[in-house]
Amino acid sequence: MSAAEAKAFASSGDMEEKVETLEVLADGVYALTAEGDPNVGAIEGEDFLVAFEARATPVAARDWLAKLREHTDKPVKYLVLSHYHAVRVLGASAFEAEVIVTHDMTRTLIAERGQQDWESEYGRMPRLFREPDSIPGLTWPDATFSDRFTVPLGGSRGDLVLQYCGRGHTAGDIVAWLPEHRVLFAGDLVEAQAALYTGDAFHRDWSTGTLDRVKAIGAEQLIGGRGPVAQGREAVDAAIEQTRRFLTTMLSEVGAVHERGGTLKEAFEATHAALYDDFGRWPIFEHCLPFDVSRLWDELDGIDWPRIWTAERDRQVWAELQG
Ligand SMILES: [Zn+2]
Repeated sequence: MSAAEAKAFASSGDMEEKVETLEVLADGVYALTAEGDPNVGAIEGEDFLVAFEARATPVAARDWLAKLREHTDKPVKYLVLSHYHAVRVLGASAFEAEVIVTHDMTRTLIAERGQQDWESEYGRMPRLFREPDSIPGLTWPDATFSDRFTVPLGGSRGDLVLQYCGRGHTAGDIVAWLPEHRVLFAGDLVEAQAALYTGDAFHRDWSTGTLDRVKAIGAEQLIGGRGPVAQGREAVDAAIEQTRRFLTTMLSEVGAVHERGGTLKEAFEATHAALYDDFGRWPIFEHCLPFDVSRLWDELDGIDWPRIWTAERDRQVWAELQG
């Protein structure tokens, strides 16, 4: 295999289907993990369901719903989308949800860059876009919030609390917290044994206050954006700290090269070397890193609002850093 084949653009060379595992984390609380592909979940109310994340296409979402329907036939009242990324939201129509809920900023980001992000993510991760023609268009939320949104689940099921913890993986990530069972759906703010995508991120906020707030929730089971469910307080904290370590390593490596007036390519090489032993074999590491370093470089240049990724800019950055 040539070096060019070994580093096919982003995840375009990854066409192998992953094994999916549906876990019942508590009575009426479900998580579907898939060996590093994006995780999804669902929570039962008395006579309705809350779905968490929508997958990349309605066809891909229907595969998840078919598995969920082996456990419950309640209708989906709320579809919660943790952030705007295409592989999380474009399958939304399959749920026939009454209310799609996101953070305020997610609506802003969909309006600003939803179309470009769709094209970019399709190019980066074609396998996740099963039957791409089934996508009816951009996904728009029906309800948005800035800090907190509570869904009473009915009966003795308690509340589902949707919470904003600060800027992180994007400007508008939210988590879904079930205090009754101490289960947290963390979206892409936390990855358990998967690399981080930080191409639209705020590294300094994420690695400090935002992760501190996620940790302070005190979850005993955590479903990250990708990777297995973290079971038990120790594993939850380990996943959060592993996420933080990825970010702080990036900040110190890219920061040092930036500080001494080096190049983006040098920053990429240094970060790759520093992260490789701990993270290099985990899903999407090689795919993400050029975009991650590029965004952090901008952030250190004082560009607060992430530049929009387009299919074209993706290829340029890839050629410059992984080529
Ligand atoms: Zn994401």
